Amino acid sequence: MYIDKIVSEPLAILGGPRAVPAEQPDLFAWPIVTQEDEQAVLEVLRAGKMSAWDISRQFEAEYAAWQGTKHAVGLPNGTMALEAAMWACGLRRGDEIIAPSLTYWATALPALRLGATIVFADIDPASLCIDPADIERRITPRTKAIVVVHYCGHPADMGPIVAIARRHDLKLLEDVSHAHGALYKGRMVGTFGDVSAMSMMGQKSFPIGEGGMLCTDSREIFERVIAYCQYERTGQELTLPDLVPFTGLPQGAMKGRLNQTCAAMGRVQLKYYPQRIRAIQDAMNRFWDLLEGTPGLRPHRPAKDSGSTMGGWYNPLGHYIPEALGGLPVGRFIDAVNAEGGRSGRTCNAPLHLHPLLNDADIFGDGKPTRIAFADRDVRQGQGALPVSEALAEHCYGIPWFKHDRPDSIARYAAAFQKVARQAGKLL
Ligand SMILES: *Cc1c(COP(=O)(O)O)cnc(C)c1O
Repeated sequence: MYIDKIVSEPLAILGGPRAVPAEQPDLFAWPIVTQEDEQAVLEVLRAGKMSAWDISRQFEAEYAAWQGTKHAVGLPNGTMALEAAMWACGLRRGDEIIAPSLTYWATALPALRLGATIVFADIDPASLCIDPADIERRITPRTKAIVVVHYCGHPADMGPIVAIARRHDLKLLEDVSHAHGALYKGRMVGTFGDVSAMSMMGQKSFPIGEGGMLCTDSREIFERVIAYCQYERTGQELTLPDLVPFTGLPQGAMKGRLNQTCAAMGRVQLKYYPQRIRAIQDAMNRFWDLLEGTPGLRPHRPAKDSGSTMGGWYNPLGHYIPEALGGLPVGRFIDAVNAEGGRSGRTCNAPLHLHPLLNDADIFGDGKPTRIAFADRDVRQGQGALPVSEALAEHCYGIPWFKHDRPDSIARYAAAFQKVARQAGKLL
């Protein structure tokens, strides 16, 4: 077959022909914007309703119905959704929140604005999501909440994590910014915790421009989110006696209204999202099935019979096992795949716990680093504290993020990866 021929040709980085000679731009284009999105956004613009909220309320109701939660609140971005979720869960000065270090910063950093302390836990080397055993080790009497990330679409191990949260009476937050629509054992992520928050930024797997959503079954959390950052709804929504006296002004001193042009696009995106992620899942699984048995390369995806899925496969990665490739450094592997036209890259996050902002910065003038300004001990974590998170950059690489299931094209991309892995010895 022609794929076998591609795999045995000289490597492109050494002067051979490329495995993927030409690219189909729409195979990767995201978001998918049609006339229906354009029409919906234009209607908002022409009606001058950018700052109204009628369409945003419709979007919230539709998103809640799809997510399967009682409430959904649209917000300007995922970062604000996470901050509002943390405040609504009662995170305050000196409280501790356990978070993965390997994530985008907004999973954890909003806790600093609340005077809370971030304690990072390591990740599981297979799922790349927070490791339940390491969560349990880091719980103290001050721990108030756990935040999990379904990293690059891979569902975190919610069974044990929910059990730990219950056993220790901790609030559980899910950051679903990578995993809209992913399933954990048949159930949608974002429905396991007390509250879930998700980015809908223009490049995420659920893209509406700049936007975020917060979902919960708890009326109390819903009201607290409104009280924190949506003053215009306080009169209508607040019933809790500790919130009602402050009706009319936001307790977070923040304004969290979603721009309706984004909400309008969100309604259209939601209509097509399930079918679009089905195509992505078929394509991505096809890619990995073709690579089965390739030395040094392993999929980052749940087992096929687990009932778990990767949602929209945001920022897809593969596991890299250098020992199986004669010790070839991953950077050299990625360069060689890219020379083939294979669309790899170094795309995992840098661990947060080593960044100076979390160790040295006194953001609010407390006379101490903000991370520990109200802590009862120094929780800062240096090099070596989270070995799996720290080593990940040498053990993963980006893979193409297919948006359509086109077997012939996907086979060529898989061949690019296979070609480099099979001929790794020539790069040493
Ligand atoms: C993108 C992202 C966020 C933040 O969302 P914004 O909409 O960009 O504010 C939070 N958490 C994770 C894991 C993300 O990837």
